[in-house]
Amino acid sequence: MTARVLVVDDVPPNVKLLEAKLNSEYFDVQTAYNGPEALELISREHPDIILLDVMMPGMNGFEVCRRIKSNPATVHIPVVMVTALDQPSDRIAGLEAGADDFLTKPVQDFALFARVKSLIRLKYMLDELRNREATTTNMGWDESAANDYNKEAPNDAKILIVDEQEHIADRIARVLDVVGDVTLMIGGEDVADRAREKNYDLIIVSLTMRDTDGLRVCSRIRSFDETRNIPILVMVSEGTDKQLLRALDMGVNDYVVRPVDKNEFLVRVKTQLKRKRYADKLWENFHTSMHLATTDAVTGLYNRHYLTNHLDTQLAAAMRYDKILSLMMMDIDHFKNVNDTYGHAAGDKVLKAFSMIIAKNIRGIDLAARYGGEEFVVMMPDTPMDWARSIAERLRKQVEQHPFDVGLDAGPINITVSIGVAASTDQAMPAELLEYADKAMYSAKSTGRNKVIVAEEPVLEGSSS
Ligand SMILES: [Mg+2]
Repeated sequence: MTARVLVVDDVPPNVKLLEAKLNSEYFDVQTAYNGPEALELISREHPDIILLDVMMPGMNGFEVCRRIKSNPATVHIPVVMVTALDQPSDRIAGLEAGADDFLTKPVQDFALFARVKSLIRLKYMLDELRNREATTTNMGWDESAANDYNKEAPNDAKILIVDEQEHIADRIARVLDVVGDVTLMIGGEDVADRAREKNYDLIIVSLTMRDTDGLRVCSRIRSFDETRNIPILVMVSEGTDKQLLRALDMGVNDYVVRPVDKNEFLVRVKTQLKRKRYADKLWENFHTSMHLATTDAVTGLYNRHYLTNHLDTQLAAAMRYDKILSLMMMDIDHFKNVNDTYGHAAGDKVLKAFSMIIAKNIRGIDLAARYGGEEFVVMMPDTPMDWARSIAERLRKQVEQHPFDVGLDAGPINITVSIGVAASTDQAMPAELLEYADKAMYSAKSTGRNKVIVAEEPVLEGSSS
């Protein structure tokens, strides 16, 4: 794993030491010797992780951290506080300033690499989600997630504790009462299986159980789709570095060493819950924007952009597997009259009802899209021309017989549709196929409307027969 690490410390030998260690593991290291210099470099370079000294003249590490975490552009960059004082109060002050973790001087190689790697993994995941979100920021969902990171930890979280020592688990549960509901599981190798579909926000696993291999529990939690992204916090005893390293390698998010300091534990739990909620929010925004980007708002069918993208891949697949793909191009007859006579609200009602008829008449593998104003396209994979024609004919009849209620006292109105059908050939390109269907639809229009016309087999120029 390679990444850009920023080391910030006012004492040059400290910087050199960390730089050398990180360089030996092929990290790309940048350095700064005070707070303002660090902030300037961060806003310019956007490092993947920041190792930040606490005690610095002028602006101390807590203040630098607060500024990083209050800027939407840098809030997701992990910050590790590096402190000479191994004081729980210092650690808590750091976490409250928004730090993601700590290291204590002199920095142990093992702890350094474990923390850095685990936080970089998290950063990459958030980067990916942020990139997806950035592609749709112009559609208006930018601020929500970025600001969420700094909100208070939730008080309605669902937390699972896995520990054989019930009285200890009970004590932990009481500490965590303020953040939500806590469930206890007394070990067992099937813990991960039982945790599926429970939607936990955090799973806390003891690695000091006698009868259950805590590491195995963690690895199984990471292996199921439903639980893969749930944060895991492990509890370990002093001097079990090797076990802890394995845990962090398999993607455990954080750890506490027993005996657990109550306040530190609570702050670490809150940090995990906040991150989880931030990632959930990014996912949710991504799905919403995906939906909005591919769907027509009036009818709920796919939009033209989505159809043309899929037509490319489906047509290529049809050729590869020697199947026929058919297209229906539909246009509602005299739709302009509906809008002009009854208004656009009535027009939208017709479009919706018309879309419902389409949706009810096509198969799961078919794809229906609103292609333009009153134009619709249905793509039908693995469908020869004859089938496509009869599906089109059935649709045409249903539209003709359907009473379209547009809210008039005089009752529903009648609508008809003209449909052109085209089927793929060995050579057909997506644009050509759409064009054939379109031409067929226009000949349905010009020969009286309310009918289905099948595109003629295209004659290749220059071919002799
Ligand atoms: Mg210092």
